[in-house]
Amino acid sequence: MFGSASQTATSAPAGIALPRRISRRDLASSPLLVFYELTQACDLVCTHCRACAQPARHPEELDTERSLRLIEQLTEFPSPPHLVLTGGDPLKRADLFELVEHAAWFGLEVSITPIATPLATREAIARLRRAGASRMAVSIDGPNAASHDATRGVAGSFQRSLQMLADARDEGFSTQVNTTLTPANADAIDEMADLFASLQIAMWSVFFLVPTGRAAHAARLSAVAAEAAFERLWRHSQRQPYVIKTTEAPHYRRFVAQRRAAATERGPAAPPTSPALHLNDGKGVMFISHVGEIMPSGFLPIVCGRYPSDDVVAVYQQAPLMQALRDQDRLEGKCRRCEYRGMCGGSRARAFAVSGNPLAEEPDCCFQPAATTPPAGSQENGCGAR
Ligand code: SF4
Repeated sequence: MFGSASQTATSAPAGIALPRRISRRDLASSPLLVFYELTQACDLVCTHCRACAQPARHPEELDTERSLRLIEQLTEFPSPPHLVLTGGDPLKRADLFELVEHAAWFGLEVSITPIATPLATREAIARLRRAGASRMAVSIDGPNAASHDATRGVAGSFQRSLQMLADARDEGFSTQVNTTLTPANADAIDEMADLFASLQIAMWSVFFLVPTGRAAHAARLSAVAAEAAFERLWRHSQRQPYVIKTTEAPHYRRFVAQRRAAATERGPAAPPTSPALHLNDGKGVMFISHVGEIMPSGFLPIVCGRYPSDDVVAVYQQAPLMQALRDQDRLEGKCRRCEYRGMCGGSRARAFAVSGNPLAEEPDCCFQPAATTPPAGSQENGCGAR
């Protein structure tokens, strides 16, 4: 349910059925996920890196002491969040193990997203587990070395990623694969889905590209192609032994709701599922950058406050943009009129990246709301999904 600085989940996941304990959380007062970007330093040069990661650490990165106090501040939320330590490459910080241990000691669930470099040794993975991290996510963007390594910019990255997953599993981590879906790998969904089944992962997190960071000019799936990807992901979710969820594609929740409704119409009522939280950027999700900028997500780079001068709890609860992002009546365009806006709302990060307005309609959804038809001359996407 989380990811690293490449186009992976430093933002809102969609389509996860969550435990009942979590479903009661008030997203206006506590985020479910807090992403702390420990550093932007990374030895890879991924083509779609959100953080535009660099080899060297930033001189104004939050130091150990401030990072420890930040972790403590997170425990002041009414419901303490799940902490995702991301980057860059978190392993570029020597104090990573201390930070994990501190967060675990304070009762936070900790996930980690190390990058597939020589730093990710079996010993480092074992130390992270001993320090108290519980889940590890590794990015894989293709079903084989040729496709994955081309994206990562380093030969051997695919093999190293597989080894990291095996090591993490052996050390007792729950494991997750993060994949950024683009026109270059969308045809390989079936191959990837079957490969990941053999890796005994707990979750496949599929990210729909947001044109920001190094991916600002990268090709992303069209609305129609996204709908086709949803269909394939939905089919795999019916048969694979791991959970599939999307990130920056909350309209997958709409797609799943439509499929379930259609199935119910055709036969006996679909079995009840556990309640799901409808996370979105700033709604159950918060991001803190390597220099303390507080944002709705890693893909929605609008600074709402700055730690340590601002209190992270107060910023999440009270910053005007955070509040607006949690108010479905503030949505614009067809998302405002959409009957699925409560569970979806569109990717706020993609709306901002494409239009400059974080409340604008999702640009890559082809659904046409029932409430109204698009005005003449509208640019709204449409693919006959209704
Ligand atoms: S129109 Fe907007 S709210 Fe409705 S399904 Fe599409 S992205 Fe979601």
